[in-house]
Amino acid sequence: MNYMEQLECLAGLVTAHKNVYVLTGAGISTDSGIPDFRSPGTGLWEKVDPIAVSSVDVLNNNPRLFYESGFSRFTKISFAEPNEGHRKLVRLEELGYLKGLVTQNIDGLHIKAGSKKVWEVHGHLRTGYCLGCKKKYPFEELVHQVELKRIPPVCHNCYSVLRPDVVLFGDPMPMFFFELQHKIQTECDFMLIVGSSLVVYPVADLPRLAGKIAIINLQPTDYDQKAEVVIRESISKVLSDLLDKLERP
Ligand SMILES: [Zn+2]
Repeated sequence: MNYMEQLECLAGLVTAHKNVYVLTGAGISTDSGIPDFRSPGTGLWEKVDPIAVSSVDVLNNNPRLFYESGFSRFTKISFAEPNEGHRKLVRLEELGYLKGLVTQNIDGLHIKAGSKKVWEVHGHLRTGYCLGCKKKYPFEELVHQVELKRIPPVCHNCYSVLRPDVVLFGDPMPMFFFELQHKIQTECDFMLIVGSSLVVYPVADLPRLAGKIAIINLQPTDYDQKAEVVIRESISKVLSDLLDKLERP
């Protein structure tokens, strides 16, 4: 299939199914300046050992190291802005084609762009909470204290360490993930995977539970054989072309 045929096929799949879900990964946010840590050569993770700095173990046992070595990455991500790819998925939802949007990304860009039915399965950087009394804080409070060299940032009530609302290495998945798995298994008849190489479990298991799937991703995935169509082009371009097709058939 050439690109126009792939696009035709994708538009056909979106319109032919009733319960369409999108699953996004790091690839959709690279146009927002957030490097995909799994793309060779550009990886955030290649300079620091992710397990060593962004894990629950380090947070609990050496919160100073957690905030000095891994936290600036979160701060940078929290300032990113949505790109054309995020905006086209908002449009897809507005047009009534989307049942839900599942994302592995912690950047919150789908919600910033205006998507409504979003499942942020690895958490987000809008808030944090106290490890002691569980009081919620805006993420800016953590950033603010770190900027003032109050490391680690602590709770105003009980002086316990604060942490971001993201799923770190060693954290369990959020409770709603099991509800999501069930929904995908029972109702999702088509899943469009955007910018994920499908290597992080248990999220990478979701396409197996879905009916038909299609993939927009620059790198090959283990699911390419199962997919109705695989498109290896810029995500912003493919989603723009897809929406053009859906809005002006
Ligand atoms: Zn507290």
